[in-house]
Amino acid sequence: DGVHAPTDPTSGTHCPYCAMQCAMRLEWRDGRPEAVPRDFPTSRGGLCRKGWAAGEMFAAERLTTPLLRAHRGAPLEPASWDAALERIVAGIRAARMAGGAHAVGVFGGGALTNETGYALGKFARVVLSTRFIDYNGRFCMASAAAAGSRAFGLDRGLPFPLSDIAEAEAILIAGGNPAETLPVMLQYLEAQRAHGGRLIVADPRRSATAAMADLHLQLTPGSDAALANGMLHVAVRDRLLDEGFIAARTTGFPAVRRAVAAWWPDRVERATGVPERLLVRATHMLAEAATAMILSGRGPEQQANGVANALAHINLALALGKAGRRGCGWGTLTGQGNGQGGREHGQKADQLPGYRSLADPAHRAAVAAVWGVPPESLPDPGVSAWELLQRCGAPDGIRALLVHGCNLLVAAPDLTALRRHLAGLDLLVVADPFLSETAELADVVLPVAHWAEEAGTLTNLEGRLLLRERQAAPPPGVRTDLEILAAIAARLGRGSLVPATPRAAFEELRRASAGGPADYAGITWERIKAEQGVFWPCPAPDHPGTPRPFEDRFATPDGRARFHVAEHRPPAEEASADYPMILTTGRVLAHYNSGTQTRRTASLAEADPAPFVEINGQAARSLGIAEGDAVRLATRRGTAVLRARLVPTLRLDTVFVPFHWGGRGAANLLTNPVLDPVSRIPAFKACAVRVERVTPA
Ligand code: SF4
Repeated sequence: DGVHAPTDPTSGTHCPYCAMQCAMRLEWRDGRPEAVPRDFPTSRGGLCRKGWAAGEMFAAERLTTPLLRAHRGAPLEPASWDAALERIVAGIRAARMAGGAHAVGVFGGGALTNETGYALGKFARVVLSTRFIDYNGRFCMASAAAAGSRAFGLDRGLPFPLSDIAEAEAILIAGGNPAETLPVMLQYLEAQRAHGGRLIVADPRRSATAAMADLHLQLTPGSDAALANGMLHVAVRDRLLDEGFIAARTTGFPAVRRAVAAWWPDRVERATGVPERLLVRATHMLAEAATAMILSGRGPEQQANGVANALAHINLALALGKAGRRGCGWGTLTGQGNGQGGREHGQKADQLPGYRSLADPAHRAAVAAVWGVPPESLPDPGVSAWELLQRCGAPDGIRALLVHGCNLLVAAPDLTALRRHLAGLDLLVVADPFLSETAELADVVLPVAHWAEEAGTLTNLEGRLLLRERQAAPPPGVRTDLEILAAIAARLGRGSLVPATPRAAFEELRRASAGGPADYAGITWERIKAEQGVFWPCPAPDHPGTPRPFEDRFATPDGRARFHVAEHRPPAEEASADYPMILTTGRVLAHYNSGTQTRRTASLAEADPAPFVEINGQAARSLGIAEGDAVRLATRRGTAVLRARLVPTLRLDTVFVPFHWGGRGAANLLTNPVLDPVSRIPAFKACAVRVERVTPA
């Protein structure tokens, strides 16, 4: 259309649609951008369907001017940037007059670059001085992050390079489906299988990944800790423990050994539905392999018992001596494009850049010195994403909310309650390239540059920093998130506090992270480009980076990994007479998260055009439901209407709905916002549901 023009045909970027961050560049053919894979050590020239389609998004209808709503009930109308920024600043001032600094909230996203995520955290804490910032990674990686930090002293998604996966003799994937969510990662699993490696998948669905496995443990949704504790019980019983590793490199095993003594295989079978013989086989397969890994997905993590579920799997890896050495380890399969970097630099309610703690006086002092503010001026830690959203519109709560990089009205749980909370705000500002479901509800919508229109770094699922170079200038009228934050800060008289360019933000981030757990001090954009990524921690320019941070010692004060007793707790909602089945949610190959981009990409929308519910064929027939029927799902939060897909391999008691759509088919109309007590992640993976055929009027 002549609006987008390539900036530098030799520059490279990375696909935005998952934490694999496959290397690509955009080439313009007949005026249209096409994704072309680049050679790179992680993706090795691979792209999946989403990556190949990444250039198509340029054809989608973009926001190119700010939109303003004159008053609630009025339509969104085009407006100048001046008018939009004035409205935002007036709204912030009014909220602060009414309720103080904490009456303003900020919501970020795990797809934002490290630079933007860093700037957003700084903007909240030193421009707005509010406690209330959190981000959509809380809905995604929070349980794995908390479990990794507790057990190893550090949350580094995969504490080893992807290439180690190919070397593991046995792998257990607990509640992950990389065949659809990280498809290019499959080449490592395929190499592992080609070397004679074994694959075990624990998943209530026979997912595309489970279908590849030697063993599929088809557990009841919400029974993950019971399964892992049962495997550890079998390992103790059958003398499969690595006593030398436990003695030399861990602490806390005796209490865990006592706790799992009660998880007899027949009890595990009752709790999980996994037959004893499979439990025993899987345990022996992992334990008897010279090298083995446990890779965790959102299945165990997105639950009200998410941290304990993840810790139960970490206990198993540690007890078998499958951690802290090459070809071994527990790791989490990060989902969002910058899910790892997004949680390291201050978007989280309790965190400062470099994975520092906002509650730690020394950490506050270190970051405050870089920011040139007194440590005591930094606000206290805030609350988690869902709790922040619940405060919106509440008495003495948040009056104005700024949202960057997230489509809340698809991605958050209990959307009916969320809509009510957002409607109670005096000011909702949404910055997005597209008129998302959340933008449609906003008072001010800001057109923002997308992933290919702004340079910046991301941190992939292995902790490797990558550089995305700009592939095109944004259309006229569109600004970057950084430019928007700087413009608001300037109008509040604090413009010097927001770095104006990605380069400036990265240089500041390097200094702010120096000495912290996620230390980027020795990393430059030039190094990332020359070395095809650099692993953190990397404290100095001559430091090589750290692909395997736990090889010699774990990141705890004594260098030992910590066992934690990890109790199984059933889901907050179990099947009942009124809601007799269990709903679980997840993703499909063609779409990315809230679908804001992929639903606007022609070939991806065509591949999976509408939301659906997977239901076991036998269960469907007993409810009078045939393939393609309209089906109503009801939970204690609301109802959704979807088309039925009959799947012979799904558990009889379980239905599955992908969460990429809004409207009447939104999975998150149904989900339970009950939170894990530690990570505060909502229970997306298990709630009680009633399923019925919609009878035509
Ligand atoms: Fe690679 Fe993920 Fe993009 Fe697919 S979606 S091309 S696996 S980064």
